[in-house]
Amino acid sequence: MRYEAPDSLDRAVALLAAEAGEARVLAGGTDLLVQLRTDVIDPVLLVDIKGIAETRQIREEAGGFRVGAAVTGAELKEHRKLKAAWPGVVEAANLIGSTQVQGRATMGGNLCNGSPAADSVPALIAAGAKASVVGPNGRRDVPVEDVMLAPRKLSLAKGEIIASFLIPAKPAHTGDAYLRFIPRTEMDIAVVGCGLCLTLDTKGICTAARVSLGAVAARPLLVAEAAEALVGTKVDDGALQKLDAAAQAACRPIDDKRGTKEYRIKVAGVLARRAAQIALERARKA
Ligand SMILES: Cc1cc2nc3c(=O)[nH]c(=O)nc-3n(C[C@H](O)[C@H](O)[C@H](O)COP(=O)(O)OP(=O)(O)OC[C@H]3O[C@@H](n4cnc5c(N)ncnc54)[C@H](O)[C@@H]3O)c2cc1C
Repeated sequence: MRYEAPDSLDRAVALLAAEAGEARVLAGGTDLLVQLRTDVIDPVLLVDIKGIAETRQIREEAGGFRVGAAVTGAELKEHRKLKAAWPGVVEAANLIGSTQVQGRATMGGNLCNGSPAADSVPALIAAGAKASVVGPNGRRDVPVEDVMLAPRKLSLAKGEIIASFLIPAKPAHTGDAYLRFIPRTEMDIAVVGCGLCLTLDTKGICTAARVSLGAVAARPLLVAEAAEALVGTKVDDGALQKLDAAAQAACRPIDDKRGTKEYRIKVAGVLARRAAQIALERARKA
């Protein structure tokens, strides 16, 4: 197996595109190295992207933030402005693993590992983030909800890398939140995850919302009907009940040792309501 650590996106893309055998991007390695050690994958080429400037930076752009795909959870937490603007995104990324894992794990790797239960993904979707994808045919922006197609299947073509995410400017009176349910208190995979973002007008009426659910279908979902339950309301009890029902209706979960289908569906509604209440409080203060 060959290891390369290019210092430019062009070089990384050229290496990945030219390799006829299985080639993999290496970010933090917290998924990749486990899969290598357990023979789940057997690549002939690893391209480490951590030496490429764009993948490692957080900078302000267009009123929002451009966050490198290989920025770690620990680094996200240290960025006070990003955390103040998008607490749901940072909290979701900080749920990944332990302190040790946080020093390595990235949002690019979390998304590109292709797990429907990845914690940072519903939060990025709720925030309206776009992935900046660089490949042999240039650069394109892809809404995060369109990157993953099914477990371990992405919409990225051969040679394409996610270089960074653009988390947009946050409108006034907007709040976001991410909650997950796990059977243990930490270090487990989500039974359900919910990212939610909502915007209020000056009278406290919800004018926009995005609701995303993880671990309840083959890919993280953006649930338009759940957002519609909130828009035009004061996010009162009636709206929260409709949100709960819409979130439940969107679920297409599997049964596994962490939870039955029925359990996951029920928890999805509960988490959506709780995430909405946190986002509401944040929007009122923003
Ligand atoms: C002990 C432990 C606990 C964990 N707990 C959680 C948890 O609570 N929640 C959770 O969601 N996950 C958890 N994980 C999984 C893992 O830590 C996360 O998915 C992490 O975010 C992966 O990021 P990484 O940088 O380490 O990715 P890597 O392992 O480097 O890469 C993962 C995959 O994505 C590809 N890839 C990486 N970056 C890019 C890119 N920029 N462009 C294209 N492809 C790319 C790689 O080729 C590989 O296939 C845990 C893992 C461990 C070992």
